[in-house]
Amino acid sequence: MQPKIYHVDEHKIALDKIDQHAFYVIQKLRQAGYTAYLVGGGVRDLLLNQSPKDFDVSTSAKPEEIRALFRNAILIGRRFRLAHIRFGKKVIEVSTFRSGATEEAGLIVRDNEWGSEEQDVLRRDFTINGLFYDPESQQVIDYVDGYPDLEKRILRAIGQPDVRFTQDPVRMIRLIKFCARFHFEVHRPTFEALLNCKGEILKSSSARILEELFRMLESGSAKTFFHLLHEYGLLHSLSPIFADHLANDAQTLHLLGVIDDEMHKKGPLDRSLLLAALVFPLFNKQLQNMMAAHTRPPHLGQIAELAHKTIDLIFEPFFSIPRRIRGIVGYLLTAQCRMIPIDGRPVRRPRVPKDPLFSMALHLLQLRTAIDPELLPHYTLWTESVCAMPEQMNASPDDHTAFRKRRRRRRRRRRGPPHERPL
Ligand code: ATP
Ligand code: MG
Repeated sequence: MQPKIYHVDEHKIALDKIDQHAFYVIQKLRQAGYTAYLVGGGVRDLLLNQSPKDFDVSTSAKPEEIRALFRNAILIGRRFRLAHIRFGKKVIEVSTFRSGATEEAGLIVRDNEWGSEEQDVLRRDFTINGLFYDPESQQVIDYVDGYPDLEKRILRAIGQPDVRFTQDPVRMIRLIKFCARFHFEVHRPTFEALLNCKGEILKSSSARILEELFRMLESGSAKTFFHLLHEYGLLHSLSPIFADHLANDAQTLHLLGVIDDEMHKKGPLDRSLLLAALVFPLFNKQLQNMMAAHTRPPHLGQIAELAHKTIDLIFEPFFSIPRRIRGIVGYLLTAQCRMIPIDGRPVRRPRVPKDPLFSMALHLLQLRTAIDPELLPHYTLWTESVCAMPEQMNASPDDHTAFRKRRRRRRRRRRGPPHERPL
């Protein structure tokens, strides 16, 4: 099949918008005799006049050939083998043209059959993600009618949508991600396939879905994404308890909106903080239930236990949250009750813990003030106390090594039952 070619006078992609390292990788591959293009989300975003998050390169060179050509390349992935070429912190992802597009339904567990450039775009997910860009001729190469779909703002699966979703159910999450990010209309057959195949989502790798969820929490479109994930029924498959909670409580989406605003102003937040904000409203509701069921307010040990239970309630059995993140999220949730005691007692002289994670807990409280202004005096009190201890403010929230060491030491020294442990 002959692709449609779009020249620079039409697509108007400015060369200076292309990442220099991606350009260098493409040139070097070509000098070695391979075909190479920019592909996927980078091309899509350039055509939409947005800044791409990352630049992906697609080439005829096999993974080992790529590694032989670039000293800074490492090969990763078993299901999908590709090369990461590192330039400092930046990574250019280079994948080999694949022939994976079949019309056979059923989960694809490996996608490492090499193919031609045309075959390579046919196995990609949506037409708007199936465009090549050749930085030398400055041409956009379109085998899948992605260019007109981008102009018309339509999300359309490449190939038969229900087959493509059953082959890789993560594509459904990706569809919702692009709906939330671009507000495009979904092509009718693609949308119907999404509704028909939503139950398939549990067959896919939870690690890949978790990664997409994190990326969406960081994206600035988290509120719309979780709203659509719920509305289209996928959230119910992934976490029925969380889906029920979202249906009956507006706070979670409200808090996600606050996170989106913060992302637009300051960039993405730490993943543990994002997860804590997502979990907080349900945790708070559980806490209220717990208090209603007992005459004495729970102590911090019980609150910490409830925090971990809530995390598990939302994410198990499908997801497995990395232990480090689960630990920090539990701490951040519990710390909310330390800053604002649940028995309503005022905190007269706040004692700021010497813990680098505490500034993250304070950040969560700050996010909460946006949906509950009554919390503002508490936030101000704690912020002032932190400011009075400058070294606390200098500690990076990411530096939790000290926190872990301290906890280990405490555990060894512990004598009483777990609930008597200091937070
Ligand atoms: P983002 O802007 O979030 O990075 P993206 O479309 O670039 O979005 P990547 O995960 O970087 O997403 O993937 C790069 C490209 O690889 C996509 O544009 C698409 O062409 C292809 N791709 C990614 N995931 C899949 C999938 N599950 N099935 C088919 N093709 C995929
Ligand atoms: Mg990308």
